[in-house]
Amino acid sequence: MTYKQDNDKLYRYLFQNRAVRGEWVRLNQTFTDTLNTHHYPKPVQNLLGEMMVATNLLTATLKFNGHITVQIQGDGPLKLALVNGTDKQEIRALARVDGEITEAMTLHQMIGKGVLVITIAPNEGERYQGVVALDKPTITECLEEYFVRSEQLQTQLIIRTGEFEGQPVAAGMLLQIMPDGQGTPEDFEHLATLTATVKDEEIFGLTAEEMLYRLYHEETVEIYPPQEVKFHCGCSAERSGAALMLISDDELDEILAEHKGSIDMQCECCGTHYFFNKEAINKLKAQTEA
Ligand SMILES: [Zn+2]
Repeated sequence: MTYKQDNDKLYRYLFQNRAVRGEWVRLNQTFTDTLNTHHYPKPVQNLLGEMMVATNLLTATLKFNGHITVQIQGDGPLKLALVNGTDKQEIRALARVDGEITEAMTLHQMIGKGVLVITIAPNEGERYQGVVALDKPTITECLEEYFVRSEQLQTQLIIRTGEFEGQPVAAGMLLQIMPDGQGTPEDFEHLATLTATVKDEEIFGLTAEEMLYRLYHEETVEIYPPQEVKFHCGCSAERSGAALMLISDDELDEILAEHKGSIDMQCECCGTHYFFNKEAINKLKAQTEA
């Protein structure tokens, strides 16, 4: 039997007698919507799924309103993989592929020489940027190391991507010792050992409550109301137009001439087309000058 009611949800919970907290998230429609307009190779899909789950779990630890970008840039066939998510759990992702990516490729073969950068941007206040070493076989392991280093707290990160009942799915869990200093390394290790036993069919198919019961039935777990997770691009005609205004007049005229009088600005995230003809561009220019 499968349960759909916890699809596209993020839960936070607390192990009451252990001063350890947890998060659980599963992306179903959100993941499908992200992949919808693209034909990414399977390893790229899975990588984006991992990065999305990590972004959800990371934004859920924020103590302020803002957004987080997790970005990989490399010189391999995968040039760019980017995920952006807000504290409202609105998320978007995109990848740029140039060259062949086969199913057998490792993360490092796809990326080549690259970096993983995490940007935390509060709505008010200064941005923080952290560079994560890509020195482990999976992104999840690299990010786990980042969590431990940036927050100085014992952290476990589990992320799974794949298919469930024929649909793409990505899910993950985070376990972290509370910053109040009450939790012991033994408590954390005990819970981490239990967490590591989670099976794909459990994290993909069960409700959060059921899964937590299966994993930790001897613990007292306080579960907080869930947050809905959804794909949200945030692109608009205005933003596309603003990008066009960075191009010189001569270049714009050239592009217009090449494309039969209409420039097609397609959003890389969601695939929406925004068309601009000469008249629209003149209007934008007048607005920009005003
Ligand atoms: Zn878009």
